Amino acid sequence: MAGRFAPSPTSDLHVGNLRTALVSWLMARHAGVPHLIRVEDLDATRVKAAPEVAARQLADLAAIGVDADGPVVWQSARLALYAAALEALPTYPCYCTRREIAEASSAPHGDGYRPYPGTCRTLTHAQRAERRVHRPPAIRVDAGGAEVTVRDVWAGEVTAVVDDFVVRRNDGAYAYNLAVVVDDLDQGVTQVVRGDDLLSSSPRQAWLARALGGCEPSYAHVGLVTNAAGQRLAKRDGAVTLADLRARGWDADGVRSVIGASLGLCDPGEPVTLATLLDRFDPSVRPQSWIWPGA
Ligand code: GLU
Repeated sequence: MAGRFAPSPTSDLHVGNLRTALVSWLMARHAGVPHLIRVEDLDATRVKAAPEVAARQLADLAAIGVDADGPVVWQSARLALYAAALEALPTYPCYCTRREIAEASSAPHGDGYRPYPGTCRTLTHAQRAERRVHRPPAIRVDAGGAEVTVRDVWAGEVTAVVDDFVVRRNDGAYAYNLAVVVDDLDQGVTQVVRGDDLLSSSPRQAWLARALGGCEPSYAHVGLVTNAAGQRLAKRDGAVTLADLRARGWDADGVRSVIGASLGLCDPGEPVTLATLLDRFDPSVRPQSWIWPGA
């Protein structure tokens, strides 16, 4: 049994990411299970300086006190695991372009995700051979239209029809949905705490966990941090990373305190240790989304 925080090293962590990380740590410590950190760097080839970004993310997590029991795991070092999992799944090659999918599928969901309509599922061998000439395939699971219900500790039940989602992209990279599930199973993760934007991915991931012979973890999706306009916090919103905030005279303890206050665990500006936050933490209270007040 374990919890984990799993950042992608695409850019420095902002206060929203730090807040989710802190909740992940508090949930694990409160439950008395180990807390792990995993660097989700499968996209590393597409992100310049991913190792440097990851190193800064780990340093920022350590600065606010989010630590890991055991070594940090890097997805880029675990490709053999994903390859083995892929072998164990019902899959088929998909030659569709983004445009073809957009034209053939229903309107995107609220999160922008377009369920795949299954176009390539029934291609004949001859059709596959013909299409392969023009385009290397992505690999999709054959989920058979399964309907899956997961339970989020705060949001309750979420039910969705699982589409035939991508597990390996057509550039050969393993997809996030595959790697995250394989790693959580392999690392004994039983408690997934992450941003609300991933709630709708949970039924897909639960389906995958079960298809691989495992059980999905318990899910706990944290309300996102937004700017004053209600949009998800981003770099353009000013001073949002620990480095930005340090440049404005904050220290990590001050940032932890403002995050703690957003969770109702302390007063703004109150000097609090992690032990105090843990003492006051009530896992039955959902961390609501929060408007970053700015620095
Ligand atoms: N690596 C993902 C992200 O940074 C999070 C994955 C997860 O927690 O399941 O958005």
